[in-house]
Amino acid sequence: MGKPNKTRRGTHKNRAKYILSVDKIQQLGDDDKKKLNKVTQRYAFRANDYYLNLIDWDNPNDPIRRLVIPHENELQEWGQLDASNEGKITVRKGVQHKYNSTVLLLVNEVCGAFCRYCFRKRLFMNDNDEITYNLGTGLDYIREHPEVDNVLLTGGDPMILRTPQLDKILSALREIDHVKVIRIGSKMPAFNPFRFLNDDDLMKMFKKHSRPDKRIYMMCHFDHPRELTSQSREVLARLIDVGVICMNQNPIIRGISDDPDVMATLWNELSYIGVSQYYIFQGRPTSGNEPYELPIVEAYRKIEQARTACSGLAKRPKFVMSHESGKVEIVGVDHRHIYLKYHRAMSSLDNQRMLVCHRDNDAYWLDQLKPVEGYENKYYADRLNTVRVN
Ligand code: SF4
Repeated sequence: MGKPNKTRRGTHKNRAKYILSVDKIQQLGDDDKKKLNKVTQRYAFRANDYYLNLIDWDNPNDPIRRLVIPHENELQEWGQLDASNEGKITVRKGVQHKYNSTVLLLVNEVCGAFCRYCFRKRLFMNDNDEITYNLGTGLDYIREHPEVDNVLLTGGDPMILRTPQLDKILSALREIDHVKVIRIGSKMPAFNPFRFLNDDDLMKMFKKHSRPDKRIYMMCHFDHPRELTSQSREVLARLIDVGVICMNQNPIIRGISDDPDVMATLWNELSYIGVSQYYIFQGRPTSGNEPYELPIVEAYRKIEQARTACSGLAKRPKFVMSHESGKVEIVGVDHRHIYLKYHRAMSSLDNQRMLVCHRDNDAYWLDQLKPVEGYENKYYADRLNTVRVN
């Protein structure tokens, strides 16, 4: 496969062709296919020819390859399928309400490709039934909760939906006066920019709904600067043109996004084109993710190193854990302690609360950390050391 075709504004004829089996990847040998098929029987595989074209097939550790091509070690017993217990905050089918002002609508169970490290990989399994296809239920719930001013469309990837379907959802949300911010979480600008470039109606629709008084936010998911192709950059430019605010958020993943130079390049490049890096996430201890995760201290050290090579604009992302008890920022590490702070908390008692834990270089997740005396919160009292990650 060669390099992706160059594109010109308004004349994109390219389409990504979806590939649903590793057997269809000509660059993989028969032995590899046999081994990887065992993995994909457990954790679904999906890719497309545009994204596979970005892989350097001569490099077995190529970061883009690691992102979509399965790894044998995914079969190691490790973590849990729903590592941050989203089941607990699911208030209706496909509707999650964790923080007072924010509701998540899971509108789709497919993505432009499947990231091997996905924390929602359970959605792609055959027996999963968490997505809402009946948006009325979610919209009713939001109407009944005037404290909700912020709705995040997620899944799967909402940008897989057809434009008329998206228009219907956005129109309905715009009719709810107390909903001010609509966010769309999407990796499609990286996985399949043609979804945007081939569809002028989509841009018109965004222009209609992203108003000066109430903006649409596209929460993009770029993991590596090599995903910022000419096509992806064109997508971002067009979205910004029609008034959509574009931001980026991604997890720190071993062999993909954990190199400080790679992180710094990504954040700087995004800042040049007007896209802010919002969060960098600690990977959740999700089943199948043993090859992809880093301990908290190692991740913190690498992120801090990346910041030293960034401008003030580019070095702003918060390093957070999306933990069951809240969004916990890792604010510092010294030789004895790890300093954390609730950026958002499920319990109002924990809002903006500091947490100081004993340093543990092998801990991947909050559950494994032991708070220093006097810093225990309700979460620790209820559920210390119950998430198994190895
Ligand atoms: S795009 Fe997001 S939801 Fe889809 S596979 Fe990747 S991490 Fe998971």
